[in-house]
Amino acid sequence: LLEVKGIKKNFGKTKVLKGIDFELQKGEVLSIIGSSGSGKTTLLRCVNFLEFADEGTISIDGNVIYDGVKDKKIKDKELKAKRRHFGLVFQDFNLFPQYSVLKNLTLAPSLLGLGTKEELEKQAREIIARVDLSEKIDFYPCQLSGGQKQRVAIARALMLNPDILCFDEPTSALDPELTGEVLNVIKNLKDEGSTMIVVTHEMEFAKNVSDKIMFMADGVVEEIGTPEQIYENPQSEKTKTFLANSL
Ligand code: ATP
Repeated sequence: LLEVKGIKKNFGKTKVLKGIDFELQKGEVLSIIGSSGSGKTTLLRCVNFLEFADEGTISIDGNVIYDGVKDKKIKDKELKAKRRHFGLVFQDFNLFPQYSVLKNLTLAPSLLGLGTKEELEKQAREIIARVDLSEKIDFYPCQLSGGQKQRVAIARALMLNPDILCFDEPTSALDPELTGEVLNVIKNLKDEGSTMIVVTHEMEFAKNVSDKIMFMADGVVEEIGTPEQIYENPQSEKTKTFLANSL
């Protein structure tokens, strides 16, 4: 489904990504782990076109949708179409505080003309039930707990029916007792067949939910493999040290 090849990104003189390659099949979950500053968030942002890679390509189903060398400037309209392949859930939720849960869900698809008001509201009710928040649909974000807000943010991303759902440290803004409910929702999405990329510090969760784990260090993919390969039989010294300090 997704192929990322040779992604490089500099901020000024800082080389943040130094050539990242990975592939993701439909229905797979990839977790990206690595120490702070290793480039995980930047990679996710490049894949979602919130940043533009300086070099490298991003392909969906074999079609190159971004080429860092050729596509320095993408027209707004094209960009919107490219972004539609991806849904992104941020660590700090980014809900619209002035709108109810229902309107948070229907706003973007309604602006994109993806259905009538009735159709979108019906879809929102179905999706909010999937994150187990049906009874909160008329609440405002300030009336919800952090975990509930994050589940609304996930539901909102699902409304646009993306090919790949991306999470940037989805539980790092939450109190420990609230992380479980969000991780459970992500686990359920996997069981329903969603393709996902999760940047996370939750090592146990990554182990349980992922098909592949990518360990990043200093802007490169230090090691990528199944959870068993990475956790039980890491090959690189850097991976071993990171895991020893994180598990
Ligand atoms: P964390 O786990 O702490 O979120 P990370 O692995 O996600 O870290 P990034 O956020 O991708 O790391 O940052 C990688 C490096 O790029 C850092 O050194 C950061 O200072 C730098 N960086 C990120 N965004 C920018 C920017 N917009 N301008 C300049 N430097 C940036």
